[in-house]
Amino acid sequence: MRVFDPEPICCGVCRREATGIGFAPKGGKPILWLCEAPECISLGKDVFHMVPKTLTATEALALQDAGAEAGAYLERLGKFSLADLTEKEWGNFLTTILNSYGENMRKRVTAAVAPF
Ligand SMILES: [Zn+2]
Repeated sequence: MRVFDPEPICCGVCRREATGIGFAPKGGKPILWLCEAPECISLGKDVFHMVPKTLTATEALALQDAGAEAGAYLERLGKFSLADLTEKEWGNFLTTILNSYGENMRKRVTAAVAPF
């Protein structure tokens, strides 16, 4: 789902904190706010114009990627119940999901709009 916050809150690509940078067609509204990652800045226009169904599917795949990476983290720990995680491991688990989602959104949006 495309996020059009009235002011910068979430990056329209990776969902991390948005800054004052955004994409809007010819300076109009709505504005798709973006974070400071150069890839998000360059992908803002593509996400803005992406067909909603394609964007939703891309987000779902990026979330699956993030889940797989978080699962791999648990496998490395040898822990398979979230209740067994220490506070630090729980933090790492959540950070893995958050960062992986953003990275995979950038990868998948790039792949989806590649001109070939
Ligand atoms: Zn971003």
